[in-house]
Amino acid sequence: MLCFAFGVFAEVGAQDSLYTRSIIKTLCSDNFHGRGYVNNGDRRAANFIKDEFVKNGISTVSLNNYFQDFSFSVNTFSAKMEVKIDGNSIEPGRDFIVQPESPTCKGKFDVLYIDKKLSEYSIEVIKEKWILLDTTRGENPFSKEEYQTWLSLDEHIKGIIQVIPKKLTWSVGTTQNKIPTIQILKSDYTNKIQKLEVNIQSKFIRKYQTSNVIGFIEGKSKKDSFLVMTAHYDHLGRMGKNTIFPGANDNASGIAMLIQMGKYFAQKENQLEYSILFIAFAGEEAGLIGSKYYVENPWNDLTKIKFLLNMDLLGTGDDGMMVVNATEFPNAFQSLDSLNIQHNYLPKIGKRGKAANSDHYWFTEKGVPSFFCYTLGGITAYHDVYDIEKLYR
Ligand SMILES: [Zn+2]
Repeated sequence: MLCFAFGVFAEVGAQDSLYTRSIIKTLCSDNFHGRGYVNNGDRRAANFIKDEFVKNGISTVSLNNYFQDFSFSVNTFSAKMEVKIDGNSIEPGRDFIVQPESPTCKGKFDVLYIDKKLSEYSIEVIKEKWILLDTTRGENPFSKEEYQTWLSLDEHIKGIIQVIPKKLTWSVGTTQNKIPTIQILKSDYTNKIQKLEVNIQSKFIRKYQTSNVIGFIEGKSKKDSFLVMTAHYDHLGRMGKNTIFPGANDNASGIAMLIQMGKYFAQKENQLEYSILFIAFAGEEAGLIGSKYYVENPWNDLTKIKFLLNMDLLGTGDDGMMVVNATEFPNAFQSLDSLNIQHNYLPKIGKRGKAANSDHYWFTEKGVPSFFCYTLGGITAYHDVYDIEKLYR
């Protein structure tokens, strides 16, 4: 069953790549705001996916409703995102990122370069300042634990600058701290910073409502047994007025594949014996929230799932594909690998064990046999402003 799906996976990609690419382009466009929590980016994406399901003849489990609603708390940045270092503006997304749990902050501050253990500083010295932690030094005073302790001094210090070695990697915050942190890339000037001017606006939303989008194709004979295909559609959204994280590889690519598979199997001649559920999850980047909600409130009997295929990060493939849970289900992996070699689809398929790194995880924990596939090689952009649709043309 899985092998058949995988065969289609490769075949469909070749036959209708224009459609796949148009889906990725749409989901990455400015109108979708990085499919996060500013300007209803996630809702726009959910509606788009539902419309594509309808257009392609993918039906729904509960009458006329493709949406499974749920909510969670999220910290958002919809407006000002300005940082000046010693009078010079730096660019959001490229030169700095704001830590996702940061609160609103506005003002001009003195910066204190930290070169010894926190316990060696008196309150007078750190008071009212932003402290600068150079994590590239890799020594004890700059460890994660030390950062957390600095963060807890929120009654004394005004904020934290973390200097990062190579790459800025953003995420989604579901809580809000009392003081902000910004991360900047290491450069010649970072250890000499004296003054910081910031104007960052954040808004913490309790109970932000979002939805998983669920499509269904009934099987020919074994209607009560399911093959499930999943991919998350949410991404990181906006970091201020001018900065979007489009998430082309993560995971417009997986959603494009999900919709494409739905389109294929919805055609009468391709109908399977088993029923198929297509689930586009929300809230993945915020901590696998949508998939957790689904396994706790399933629309089908989880024990009736024959296999689940989760697709997250499918934009490349130059070096093949990796399968999480391969060692948990060796027979399924063996079939998949043989099929790949026989048809020469991908250079190689790698195998891994269990990992809590995408939406298959909660299903695996409930005993549902599942694979999570992601492609290897090519573009290395990840959770940054460089994960754009153009890279995958
Ligand atoms: Zn992802």
